[in-house]
Amino acid sequence: MTIFSKIIKGEIPSHKIYEDDKVFAFLDIGPLSKGHTLVIPKEAVATLDQLSDDSAAAIGRVLPRLCRAVMKATGAKDFNILQNNGAAAHQVVMHVHFHIIPKFNDTGLGIDWDPQQFDHTAGAQLAKQIVASLEG
Ligand code: AMP
Repeated sequence: MTIFSKIIKGEIPSHKIYEDDKVFAFLDIGPLSKGHTLVIPKEAVATLDQLSDDSAAAIGRVLPRLCRAVMKATGAKDFNILQNNGAAAHQVVMHVHFHIIPKFNDTGLGIDWDPQQFDHTAGAQLAKQIVASLEG
């Protein structure tokens, strides 16, 4: 069990922002900026690809509303949604979570964006493989 399951159960305190039968949201204790919030499913799976459609839908339904509330309360106009999957992708807590990170002039998410060359022939093949890999 991860620390987030304990937070959902109330065994570890948190600054709760929202709760319904499938979703929980609370302030991040290592904030990149004022209002940095975590939105998590109550379903305890590590990465987004493992999440049920029901939990995914429940998060999708409430995420924009939570973003609006965080922006209104902090006065931020811009924000990032960050969702890390796997240790190499900077995931530390192995329970699915979406970061809402308000962006101010001097604080927020820094992004190191390093686009690679795109090969249209390989891209067309890859797109076909991904389509063929879609389930259901
Ligand atoms: P990630 O690197 O995507 O796994 O992010 C995990 C996040 O969880 C970090 O931003 C931490 O600051 C945050 N975090 C870890 N423990 C707690 C806690 N007890 N309460 C609130 N946030 C936490």
